[in-house]
Amino acid sequence: MISELLASQKAYFKTGETKSVSFRKTILKRLKIELIKREDAISAALHKDFKKPVFESYATEIAMVISELDLTIKNLNKWAKPKRVMPSLLNFPSSAKIYSEPYGNTLIISPWNYPYQLALAPLVGAIAAGNTVILKPSELTPNTSNIIEDIITTVFAPNHVSVVKGGVSVSTALLAERWDYIFFTGSVFVGKIIAKAAAEHLTPVTLELGGKNPCIIDEAANIKLSAKRIVWGKFINAGQTCIAPDYILIHKSIKQEFYNALEKEIALAYTNTPNQSEDFARIINEKNFNRLVKMLDNETCVIGGQTDIDSLYIAPTIIDEPQLDSEVMKDEIFGPILPVISYENLLEIETIISNYEKPLSLYVFSNNASKAKALINKFSFGGGAINDTVVHFINHKLPFGGVGNSGIGAYHGQLSFDTFSHKKGVVKKANWLDLPFRYAPYKGKLKQIKLLFKWLS
Ligand code: NAD
Repeated sequence: MISELLASQKAYFKTGETKSVSFRKTILKRLKIELIKREDAISAALHKDFKKPVFESYATEIAMVISELDLTIKNLNKWAKPKRVMPSLLNFPSSAKIYSEPYGNTLIISPWNYPYQLALAPLVGAIAAGNTVILKPSELTPNTSNIIEDIITTVFAPNHVSVVKGGVSVSTALLAERWDYIFFTGSVFVGKIIAKAAAEHLTPVTLELGGKNPCIIDEAANIKLSAKRIVWGKFINAGQTCIAPDYILIHKSIKQEFYNALEKEIALAYTNTPNQSEDFARIINEKNFNRLVKMLDNETCVIGGQTDIDSLYIAPTIIDEPQLDSEVMKDEIFGPILPVISYENLLEIETIISNYEKPLSLYVFSNNASKAKALINKFSFGGGAINDTVVHFINHKLPFGGVGNSGIGAYHGQLSFDTFSHKKGVVKKANWLDLPFRYAPYKGKLKQIKLLFKWLS
């Protein structure tokens, strides 16, 4: 079934219909209408899947996709137009252009944590760039995946865009096919499986992965505001956010004050009984619940720590001074648990951060601008913020992606279009002059060419 579907997309791509920019714009506009029409149903599906609060569904999923669509529809003519660049004098007389061409038949595999946005935002880029798409959403959010399938079936012909649902076996079958581009969002572990499968056919990939994101708070930070912004960025989606702060590194002198501020902010956001708050999501499934609960073993929870397997609830939890080899400090946490480690000097920060692979995000809270800048420059990470968390994600002018183990490539805004386009550089040579010095026989021409390169540099 997958092979036949892909064969039909290959045949359709060859017709050249998707090369028309006006066709792409028309279909993106249709997609937008359909998404707006189903806003409430999308929120309801996300709530059914893991009790995602309606506000969070709108702010972090629905609005993000609409804003990517608006930007793309508005700018597509400009982005898709061949870009004239300065010709090289070595090619005189000539002109030069960069053409954006669609890769062709693309595969998008998405995760469960922002199941709507992380499936549809890359899709917008892929369609804008003129590709066909097979989209495999997560099997862990069946309600959201069903509505995505419904939308796609309404807007697109199956030989242009299709949704293929399923888990590992379906994903494996998809990866056995030959694609022109694979866009994957998910874990580092599966990212490596994707990269291996892609290497078989030298297929280019974007890998949007995860990591252990440090959040540094120095003694010059505004403690109250830092606590507020950290509580928001950490506990939104119940901590199941790839760019959530994973652990805090805080100057020893302000730790207690920070704990007091955290306690207040958590209560303000989610009340003293977060298990009854409509604004706090649940853990996606029992497997992840058990993985997270194991992290609490033998740790000191200064805030939270309550869990309930029946409702897959884990309270917003702060762990005080875990060991670096403890369960909670081993891998990405991906849940509402926040370990706090205190430091006295910058060397300690460096030692701890270098203990891990390059993270997807890094955050620094400090009112000392030069110190904050120095920390941003010191470490390699996907993207981040000074004096806030997560917010770099919403600026479509910023590339969103990881580095090293946290990913390959980036997208959002124009970069989504560029990611799904091959950039074809073409020189148009004039025929009225043909300078002779590049042609053999080369005798006596070496000096000329050396002079020319020197003159041009
Ligand atoms: P996952 O890697 O388990 O699954 C992602 C997708 O891959 C799913 O569609 C799944 O069906 C498929 N998959 C799972 N196992 C597979 C296998 N063996 N072979 C082929 N495909 C397979 O990730 P997840 O649990 O859905 O999401 C959580 C992870 O995603 C976290 O590590 C998080 O940091 C990361 N993430 C990254 C970003 C980002 O933008 N960088 C965004 C969200 C989540």
